[in-house]
Amino acid sequence: MLARAVLFTFCFCIFAATGVHAQTPAWSADIGEVRQTAALIPGAKPLRINILKFAESRRTKNFSLKGAPKEPSIQARTVFQVVYPDGTVMVDSGMDLQVHKFFGRGVEEPYFPDAAVKVEMALQAARIIVMTHEHGDHVAGVIRTPFFNQLAPKTVLTRTQIDTLMHDPQMPEIRLTPDMAQHFIVIDYDKYYPFAPGMALIKAPGHTPGSQMIYVALASGKEFVLAGDVAWHMDGVRNVIGKDAPWVKEDIAKVDAELQWLHDLTTTQKNLTVVLSHDEEQRLDLIKRKVLGDGLE
Ligand SMILES: [Zn+2]
Repeated sequence: MLARAVLFTFCFCIFAATGVHAQTPAWSADIGEVRQTAALIPGAKPLRINILKFAESRRTKNFSLKGAPKEPSIQARTVFQVVYPDGTVMVDSGMDLQVHKFFGRGVEEPYFPDAAVKVEMALQAARIIVMTHEHGDHVAGVIRTPFFNQLAPKTVLTRTQIDTLMHDPQMPEIRLTPDMAQHFIVIDYDKYYPFAPGMALIKAPGHTPGSQMIYVALASGKEFVLAGDVAWHMDGVRNVIGKDAPWVKEDIAKVDAELQWLHDLTTTQKNLTVVLSHDEEQRLDLIKRKVLGDGLE
């Protein structure tokens, strides 16, 4: 009897150990749980989402998509504005000309000063600001700004984002001193975070340690996942293919799992649009089809 019990326990342990090991993906999320999280905070849902391009990067497509031909490709640099009946949420904050030049690595690339001013005005008008991730083209607008004291107290950074910005920033220009870091709202969460009515944050480390995706359900019932830089071009989501950009140190296994999840959303959730930060072709298409608003309010 004892032997049988020991044998059973042994087998169970082996099964449990291999089972857990085999079934733990590098990253996972459940859209049903995301929807539930986004519905937690009471209040009117957002009416629309706007996008604005304030700069461009010219990189051949093979960097955005492993194995793609070296054909010219425009990477838009963008921010998003989620519009509620009584205020706006800004997703990402743009960057100043100096940080833009860092990305050009000596090559002159388009920067649109009028659009950059509009980003600055929208940040000042926003009720709250949140970041897809802690890279310079997304966060510099709340760090390298004469309005730091006004913007930082209404900017939400995750603990991971703030740690990276303090200790291992993408570039020296966006490093946060301990004093600067104190001005931000810092949150920490494991999987999902209820951010605002109809909005939830989805933890998605991979492109950077502090990357997150932002789910938005509009009052109309339309749904969005603002996926940041999980992919740079929608072909990456369509074909589940990652980048080939040696200067970006990604957790490949996590990014691949995120690409697969986004791909599955695009094929199974007809009411949901996955939106990337840098796909110029997608930006033009979504504006043309009036899925996203063109420019900030
Ligand atoms: Zn980016």
